[in-house]
Amino acid sequence: MELGETDLVLERGQGLAAERQTSSQTASPAVVPSPKRAEADHTAAPVKVKPKAAEAAPPLPAGISVEAPAGGDDLFAADPLRACATLDALVPIIDACRKCQLGHSRLHSVPGEGDPRAGMVVVGEAPGATEDETGRPFVGRAGQLLNDILKAIGLKREDVFICNVLKCRPPGNRDPEPLEVAACSPYLHRQLELLGPRVILAMGRPAAHALLGSNASLNELRGKLHRYRGIPTIVTYHPAALLRNPHWKRPTWDDVRIARRIYDGERA
Ligand code: URA
Repeated sequence: MELGETDLVLERGQGLAAERQTSSQTASPAVVPSPKRAEADHTAAPVKVKPKAAEAAPPLPAGISVEAPAGGDDLFAADPLRACATLDALVPIIDACRKCQLGHSRLHSVPGEGDPRAGMVVVGEAPGATEDETGRPFVGRAGQLLNDILKAIGLKREDVFICNVLKCRPPGNRDPEPLEVAACSPYLHRQLELLGPRVILAMGRPAAHALLGSNASLNELRGKLHRYRGIPTIVTYHPAALLRNPHWKRPTWDDVRIARRIYDGERA
């Protein structure tokens, strides 16, 4: 499965098994190892490879010299995010980030919080004022509503991992700009890689677009099961939108119930 691929349509009231598979999937389903499994594989007994006898490197042309890369022979030195083996290790990197101007205007970065072994990850858009003041995601009015939404499916916020596409607050809560999303997305991707959840709940259009590489409207994205790098992904309204339009609560509850069923292990 690849980014943005939508592989089944959920008919309301039907089981997740009511799949409408595409012919290519029927022919040869792609097997994507979950990030957790991929990581677990690294813990398998190491294969011993007999080292080759060292070969002398050919001499460099006159006037050319090679500097040792920063970090010595650390293969991960060039990609600090890859080198982060835990969510906590990402925090200082996110905090030090000044790749876009939001890093200069915000008070606190908001990397995310929750259970690092969570089966569900909730992805929102960007921190608001209260999140900027506290450094914690979804703690303002929208956060209270998110807590209620999770409660409705029998979960507490400590049971899941909560984060945003942007880790810094856009001034005045304006919409994220494409360059800001591009600069910040690698942090989200690495978080999801380390978390390897069973299901992702994308709340609002910016979260869905960043995860699925889609430009579709929220209405087009809702009611379908998507996959983010093989992980079942459900798209629903953002809690802030529900505060403005309470009549969207009902469909949101429908969506999160589907997410809960996948969390519980129903085949998706
Ligand atoms: N809205 C979001 O998208 N994220 C937060 O953390 C708070 C409000």
